[in-house]
Amino acid sequence: MTGELYLCSTPIGNLEDITLRALRILREADLIAAEDTRHTRKLLNHYDINTPLTSYHEHNARQKGAYLLELLREGKRIALVSDAGTPGISDPGTLLVQQAIEAGIPITPIPGATAAVTALSISGLATDKFVFEGFLPRSNKERKERLAKLAREERTIILYEAPHRLVATLKAICEVLPYRRMAVARELTKQYEEVIRGTTEEILAHFQITAPRGEFTLILEGCREEEKGQLPEEIIDPVELVRTLEEQGFDWKAAIKEAAKRLGVPKREIYQLVKGPGGNN
Ligand code: SAM
Repeated sequence: MTGELYLCSTPIGNLEDITLRALRILREADLIAAEDTRHTRKLLNHYDINTPLTSYHEHNARQKGAYLLELLREGKRIALVSDAGTPGISDPGTLLVQQAIEAGIPITPIPGATAAVTALSISGLATDKFVFEGFLPRSNKERKERLAKLAREERTIILYEAPHRLVATLKAICEVLPYRRMAVARELTKQYEEVIRGTTEEILAHFQITAPRGEFTLILEGCREEEKGQLPEEIIDPVELVRTLEEQGFDWKAAIKEAAKRLGVPKREIYQLVKGPGGNN
């Protein structure tokens, strides 16, 4: 008989926000695997829960994950607790979930608030369609490239960001996507909870004066119809397009033909680019 993996939410902020079901599971589990044991221990102490606790975070996920899977195969029930919010959303829980699925171990989510949806709900921006982007790349160049790819995204965009990178990220957003409406939610459900709403420029100006502190979730308006005409033409790299088409199942020749058709250029031009100067593709 296999055990069971519970994805047990802890509040993204206030300790009182935890559900009774989450408390029961934490009490009844054989082991709690926590992304931040100090954070989780505070919660366990607050509710007088004595279940054994072990760490599971991005730096030990491979090796600790193998150990946890072994216990699950032996029939143990493990509650996975992320640093805060819903386990598996932008944290190492994703890997354990994938490994548990492969091993045929049942997984039960004990839902609780994720910062992404909590921030979205009070943003004042469209909530009927949204896209979660998590953390943008750390390098300035890659961050701008990612934002350029998002420029035509019509759905509301949700981002996570660390306080020490917030201003750099807001600057990049202002450069690539100026005039968009935005909401920045700070320290949700905690003592210093705050939401700042405005245009991207207004929000950047605010954080250039007030140093960012705490946890931040950014909600960015999607691309409006009238903005589309003002955006620069989307630049498509022919070589990347051929590679994407191959990944989608086109063979090499068919991918070149399709790319030429989509970009409106002769096949031989794409062929030369894909082959490269040395003649190898
Ligand atoms: N699994 C978590 C969840 O469901 O929200 C997210 C984990 S991710 C590693 C941590 C990021 O979530 C933080 O850097 C911040 O961007 C966001 N976050 C977490 N708690 C928050 C809070 N109380 N207020 C605003 N954003 C928060």
